[in-house]
Formats: sequence, C-alpha cells, structure tokens
Amino acid sequence: MASKISSAGINPGVVLSQTTEPLVFLGLLLSILLSTHRHAIESLSPRDNGVRARSMSSCLRASGVRNFSMAGSPGYATIFNFSIQNLRFAAPEFRKPEAVVLPTSRRGLQRAVLCARSASLAIRVRSGGHSYEGQSYTVSGGVLDGKAPFVVIDLMNLNKVRVHAASATAWAESGATLEEVYHAVALASSSNSNWSLAVTAASCSTIGLGGHISGGGFGPLSRKFMLAADNVLDALLVDAVGRVLDRRAMGEDVFWAIRGGGGGSWGVVYAWKLRLVPIPDTVTVFTPRREGSVDAMAGLVHRWQFVGPDLPDEFYLSVSLTIGSSSLSQEDRDHRNVTFTGLVLGPKELAMSVLNERFPELGFAESEVSEMSWVESAARLAGLSSVDELTSRVSKTKYYGKNKSDYVQQPISRDSLAAMLRYLSNGPPAPWHD
Ligand SMILES: Cc1cc2nc3c(=O)[nH]c(=O)nc-3n(C[C@H](O)[C@H](O)[C@H](O)COP(=O)(O)OP(=O)(O)OC[C@H]3O[C@@H](n4cnc5c(N)ncnc54)[C@H](O)[C@@H]3O)c2cc1C
Repeated sequence: MASKISSAGINPGVVLSQTTEPLVFLGLLLSILLSTHRHAIESLSPRDNGVRARSMSSCLRASGVRNFSMAGSPGYATIFNFSIQNLRFAAPEFRKPEAVVLPTSRRGLQRAVLCARSASLAIRVRSGGHSYEGQSYTVSGGVLDGKAPFVVIDLMNLNKVRVHAASATAWAESGATLEEVYHAVALASSSNSNWSLAVTAASCSTIGLGGHISGGGFGPLSRKFMLAADNVLDALLVDAVGRVLDRRAMGEDVFWAIRGGGGGSWGVVYAWKLRLVPIPDTVTVFTPRREGSVDAMAGLVHRWQFVGPDLPDEFYLSVSLTIGSSSLSQEDRDHRNVTFTGLVLGPKELAMSVLNERFPELGFAESEVSEMSWVESAARLAGLSSVDELTSRVSKTKYYGKNKSDYVQQPISRDSLAAMLRYLSNGPPAPWHD
C-alpha cells in the first residue's frame, strides 16, 4: 500500500473534465439508501471489522487505487493526523478509521466510495480537516463504542485549480485549501484596468474548499460579494453509487443543498466551478489592537456593533476579544485588549476618511493601515508572512477547542460585553481538553 501524503499532484494546468453521464439524481432515494446503509453498518459486530478492512484493501488494490493506508500500518498515524485541526479529536478514546484513502484522481475517488460501500464501511470525507467537531474523521460522536467502522476519504491530493480569467471562473477540486485557491487565482488573473480577480471565502489559510462551501463560507469579501456558496456556478458530485453528477444531472434541489446544507450528507463533491469577483488592484488592510480598562474596551466593542453594519459594502471590520489566563494579576485582569481586523476594497485614504468619520472612538492612525494587493491581504489576514506561504497545507495553529457560533439579533449591551471580557480574563480551565 502506498502512503503518499505530499500534494505533489498540484498542477493548476490540469483540465478537469466537466462531462458526466446524463443520469437523473433522485435526492430522496439517495438519502433513503444512505440511511438504510448506515443502519446496516451500525448493526454489524465489531469482530467483523477486520474482515471489512481486508475487503476494503483488496477492493482498492483490484480497482487500481494505490494511495491508501490501513490502520496499524506504518505511516497511518501521520496521514490520519495530518489534517486534524482540533486536537481534541486526535485523542486515543476517539475511534480511528479502518483506512485512510487519498485518491489522486476523480476515478480514484469514485472507486474509493464504491469499495467502502462494498466493504460495509461508513465514509467520512475530509478536505481540509477544519470541522470544529471532527465530522470529517470521527463517527458516532467520536467515542469508542464498537459501532460504525469507517474509512476516511481524504481529498488532500485532489487540489488542482484551473482558472479561466476571460470568463472570471475557476474549477477547483475540493481538496484545495482556500489559500491554494487564492494563490492560483491571483497567479492566473492579470490586472485589467486597475481590477483583478478574487474569490470570496474565509481568511484561515488551511480550510479546505470542500467543507467550507458545503457549510456556506463567510469571509472578508462577503459583505460585498456574499458567501463562497453563493458564487458556485456548477459542481461535480460523486454519489453513493459512484456516479459523477454535474449541476444539471444532480438537479437544482441537490445543487442547492450541497451549497450550505452541511458537508458529508449528499455525496462527495469532487470539484466546484466558482464565479470570480472583481477586486481593485489595491486594497487596504488594518489590524489595530486597543488596550484599556474592561469598561473602555467594552465601550469600543459596543460602539462597533452600531458602526459595522452600516459601513459601505467595500468595508469589512471584525473584532476579537482576547482570552486571558487565570495566572494574571487582578490589575492585569482589569486591563484588557481587543483586536480589530479590517479590509477595505480601495485605497487607504478611503479607509481613513470613512472610519475616522464613523468610528472616531477607534482613533485610527495612518501608520496602522497598509495598502497591498488582494492576494497579499489574504496572506496577511491568514497570519502568514508571505504570499508564497499560501501554498503550504501545514497548519501552524492547531488547538484543543470548542467552538460555537450564533447570530446576534440585537446589539449586546455594554454591561454584558464588560462581563464577557471579565469572564475571558480568567482564562479557560486547564488542561483545555479535560
Ligand atoms: C481555525 C478555523 C477558522 C475558521 N474560520 C472560518 C471563517 O472565517 N469563515 C467561515 O465561514 N468558516 C470558518 N471556519 C469553519 C470552516 O469553514 C468549516 O469548519 C468547514 O467545514 C471546514 O472545511 P474543511 O474542508 O477544512 O473541513 P473538513 O473537516 O474536511 O470537512 C467539514 C465537513 O464537510 C464535509 N466535507 C469535506 N469535504 C467534502 C466534500 N468534498 N464533499 C462533501 N462533504 C465534504 C466533511 O465530511 C465534514 O462534515 C473556520 C474553521 C476553523 C477551524
């Protein structure tokens, strides 16, 4: 068995085929098939796992798929752990897959799906591994319960991006990270009368395109150009019986569902056709950090809630409340900092004039804003030191964490923000993963 983990397959010049068989896709039938299959898998005895693993391995070999690693074999742990972003789910008590398959072609992906089904193994699809709850590499809540033996189909080698600048579109394989997509788009799009092409998605560099679009995809360009999912024009979906369906073949309901309906539910999206958006050659970036008393910082964040939504669509302005540590002195705990992150689609004069007029409390200084190209801003907002680093899949910021998002319907009161800042000052209980 092979265990190639490198993304040597990156080749922005490779053309993705868009032709698929004209088969009608019945979403309801598929979900019934999938749930029946899942029930059958969960009711099988754990002692059958070895048989199923051997069946999977033989099927892959017979199908010509060589790039996979079986549990217990050398290199397995390295491959499995490589894309795990939330280290909580790397702990020994979480069930591990019987195999990790890393297809290097669309055909290899189809065969991996078929082999997993014929071996009665559940499938977890992984693109970038940034699922907050480890959904791409755990089963049944993750605990070792003897049920649902599974296989991970990891798309990291399916990361090619082909840009067609003339039509402002790109086909990107799901295993590409967002920053690999940004890099390819920036390379291929030459400036045209002060405008170039960009992709609207998040700023975290190692998120995978597959999971990101499957969940929506919000980023610094979303106020102007909406979510990543809103800019998908077509997709190629491998269904439960190994067919490749484009938008027409899968139908509009399924095409709607795969763009924000949650990953891993509708099949494996092999590739996406993206609409690229026009961006000025020069954008402005700023990440001002402000320090002060808890009450002063709460006041600043409170004010931001009223300023942010009314800024022009060319402006993105987010804020982070930083966490403290229980070892801080009482004086330090009363002294907090908050960090704003901003991107403006225009020159710094525009950024300065609008922000100083609408948000004077922030006290912007010219030295805090920098002009750069969009792709440089992508690297900066991802915390990278250069554009070249965009093509690295290695995540430098793995963590043990629990994440929760919510929409705020009304502004949070100043007192509540102060209470949140005081709570964060105490830091999380240690160790985090207990
Ligand atoms: C540090 C960090 C920062 C983040 N910042 C943002 C942000 O700014 N904006 C934002 O919108 N989101 C953000 N997210 C959330 C992120 O977009 C989602 O967790 C996304 O699902 C991750 O995609 P992935 O491919 O990396 O994850 P994975 O763990 O690989 O996949 C996530 C889910 O999608 C499924 N899936 C993956 N690939 C496919 C595929 N090809 N076909 C079908 N299903 C698939 C998986 O099975 C799993 O259920 C952030 C997450 C992290 C960890």
